Amino acid sequence: MSEVSLYSPLATPELEEHRAKVREFAEKELAPLRQKYEEENLDGLGKVFPWDIYRKLGERGLLAEHVPKEYGGRGESFLTEVVTIEEIARVCGTFSVLVDYTPTLVCNPILMYGTEEQKKKYLPPILRGEKVGSYALTEPKWGSDVASIETTAVKKGGEYVINGHKKFIMLGNIADILLVFAKTAPEAKARGITVFIVERGTEGVSYPKQEKKMGLKATPTSEIKFENVAVPEENILGGPSQLNKGIYVALDALDHGRCGVAAQAVGVAQSCLEQAIAYSGRREQFGKKIAEFQAIQWMIADMATKIDAARLLTYRAAYLRDLAIRGKISRRMVTLPASMAKCYATEVATWAAHRAIQVFGGRGFMMDEEYTPIKALPTPEKAYRDCRIFEIYEGTNEIQRMVIFRELFRKYSK
Ligand SMILES: Cc1cc2nc3c(=O)[nH]c(=O)nc-3n(C[C@H](O)[C@H](O)[C@H](O)COP(=O)(O)OP(=O)(O)OC[C@H]3O[C@@H](n4cnc5c(N)ncnc54)[C@H](O)[C@@H]3O)c2cc1C
Repeated sequence: MSEVSLYSPLATPELEEHRAKVREFAEKELAPLRQKYEEENLDGLGKVFPWDIYRKLGERGLLAEHVPKEYGGRGESFLTEVVTIEEIARVCGTFSVLVDYTPTLVCNPILMYGTEEQKKKYLPPILRGEKVGSYALTEPKWGSDVASIETTAVKKGGEYVINGHKKFIMLGNIADILLVFAKTAPEAKARGITVFIVERGTEGVSYPKQEKKMGLKATPTSEIKFENVAVPEENILGGPSQLNKGIYVALDALDHGRCGVAAQAVGVAQSCLEQAIAYSGRREQFGKKIAEFQAIQWMIADMATKIDAARLLTYRAAYLRDLAIRGKISRRMVTLPASMAKCYATEVATWAAHRAIQVFGGRGFMMDEEYTPIKALPTPEKAYRDCRIFEIYEGTNEIQRMVIFRELFRKYSK
């Protein structure tokens, strides 16, 4: 009986065993470094990137676990990877970017759309934790409205020359490879976008601004400028046959990435729940543990219920995405569950962090780990700052709701 998980039937005994291993690793080896990286990056510029942790994750095979063995991965299910993201996020939202961002938004598109040479060249060093990649879509003028991007790539002989400006690119200034979304047929709008692989050191690439962030502080986020950046035609992701098909790559990658963001959110929310329960059993007021007050009990009961709902939505989306990766269902089938999971789980995370701060009272407002009962987990204050962006990146939750409605309308309107 003990082998049955609360998250059955998706969470098998093998998956729970994987969770236990990742949890032990995260608590023992990553949690002790959380405060150091937070303090070294207090300005929010992300100058001190946790390369040591990234390499460790690579050595343990915890980066992009769904990538097949022939490209340096472990060929695990995407659900396994999502549990890894969740467990790393439980000890630190910032560290969860390491297992989520490049693996979902760079490795997966290369796996799904890249040529054989591109997969063999770019995936193994990322999976070993030696290189990071970034997904460069957003621009200063165009965020949610991705079809309007203005970066262009113009063909000159056997090369494309890229000009444009990207904003808010996670790990942008340290990325070894960039997936750059550019217009190759501007008049065709969304259907005129192509994805280019731009390697670090290519002439004409510069990083005019580093952002100062409120959370995820140990990760840099940059503007990137492209001034007459020449790349060979072979650097089109998937090769020349993929010309003008970039919007499909962008959206498919986001379906995949949104499962990852949902998992980050579930992990951060879980840390808030555990801290709130433990704190409520220690703190006394009016001669009682605060856990004896119904107001506190109800907050915790609601947190736990919503987090479980978020987790189940997330696992469903990841399970379906895994089927889509293996070609067993259409990719489009994942769009609705991925947006539902991302939208719901990220709002549960910010709400749970908000409630955990409330349970802690004044101590919840402090950056001090001295006040938290579970030392392996972050303070609710850090959890709150780290998870706030989850409602915004990879498509704001307003955009998720548009997607959810569109998919439902497509299915049910007659
Ligand atoms: C820390 C961080 C990391 C990021 N990393 C990356 C990255 O690596 N790569 C990348 O390409 N991008 C990245 N982004 C960009 C992110 O995806 C965008 O910020 C996001 O998509 C929203 O775009 P915007 O900020 O321009 O907001 P806007 O699009 O200007 O939206 C502003 C507000 O208007 C709302 N809104 C917009 N359109 C509609 C509509 N049609 N209906 C209803 N409401 C609407 C939005 O929901 C939002 O509330 C990152 C952003 C941050 C902050």
